[in-house]
Amino acid sequence: MSGSQSSLRGANRALVVETVKRYGGLTQVELTAATGLSPATVSSIVKELLAAGAVDTRSTIRSGRRAQLVTIARRTGLAAGVDVGRRHLRVALADVTREIVAEQSLPLPAEHRADTTLDRAALLVVDLLERLGASLDDLLGLGVGLPAPVEPGTGLVTVRGVLRGWDEVPVVHVLAKRLAKPVLVDNEANLGALAESRFGAARGYQDVVYVSVGAGTGAGIVLSGHLHRGFGGTAGEIGHVQVDPQGRICRCGSRGCLDTVVGYPALVEPLTETHGALTIRDVVQRAVEGDPGCRQVVADAGAVIGGVVAGMAMVVNPQCIVVGGELAQTGDVLVQPMREAIARRVPLNQVATLDVVPGELGVRASVLGALAMALEATDQAAVGGAPDIADHSDTPAGGGS
Ligand SMILES: [Zn+2]
Repeated sequence: MSGSQSSLRGANRALVVETVKRYGGLTQVELTAATGLSPATVSSIVKELLAAGAVDTRSTIRSGRRAQLVTIARRTGLAAGVDVGRRHLRVALADVTREIVAEQSLPLPAEHRADTTLDRAALLVVDLLERLGASLDDLLGLGVGLPAPVEPGTGLVTVRGVLRGWDEVPVVHVLAKRLAKPVLVDNEANLGALAESRFGAARGYQDVVYVSVGAGTGAGIVLSGHLHRGFGGTAGEIGHVQVDPQGRICRCGSRGCLDTVVGYPALVEPLTETHGALTIRDVVQRAVEGDPGCRQVVADAGAVIGGVVAGMAMVVNPQCIVVGGELAQTGDVLVQPMREAIARRVPLNQVATLDVVPGELGVRASVLGALAMALEATDQAAVGGAPDIADHSDTPAGGGS
């Protein structure tokens, strides 16, 4: 079979699975109508999916006649999402219907170490499984988000020094060894972008920029519905765009990066004289409560970040910019100055306006994206595992419809 026939076959198979999911259960006649595929194609795809264990069939009656009802195979199984932040660890479990069944977060010390944090993450996954009366046998796979650019295959941080103590730690191998399950790793802003575009504020949009503003700032880019990681996995690393040529030296070695101006220490420092020692959570809470000093600090950060995001918006031309991360919990205190900075710099498009909106998934965006990544990988394993046996146009229909 040629490559294009093979990819058409794969697309048709995905279409059948998506359609069955959308309706819960359909007969093959109904599947033919709902997908627009020929009865012969539907029949052979259902056979393949049945052989691969991706769907089940059972007898039913439709319009007084016997028919085979096709449903998604009830794979009992769970996926885990792990979000490692600079100061937090968040773990969630979901079943294959994407329902969250357990979730917990813990604070982490500043400059936490890779070995102890990954240990805690693995223990927390096992602990949450046990609380559900499940075990590691029920875990299908694991998605992990890190606050740094990573190489997805190994989970290695691709820019030295950005996440202190994590250089040369192959997160995929460390966790796969501990839990003996498939592990996927990505940058937290990429996962936030994935989550907001799948089931958050950017649902239904094809071209999206997601900006995560917390202890550091990063962005995730979705182009034509797919995450754009870039050649080296550093697409969207806007925390290291220079905004102050005379500024402080950054963790990455450059001077005056965005993170040195709006990152955690820079954000709380101007408040120490008036407010004492604050955490980023204190700043967010007080800004929400109306404290003028904390609102000023967050708004100034929004204006600076907006200037950088405007440059990105001109290059990428997204339909929508979603703002997430811890600081986005202040809503328009952060987002309105960003919106204004972007509007000042990006020429107004008469045809397609650019929305700048707060995320809908809050600080959970990254862990939900990690879960989506893990579940989509297990879906593909189930769907892609079906044998690619025949061309769709000349397969005999056989029985079973
Ligand atoms: Zn930097």
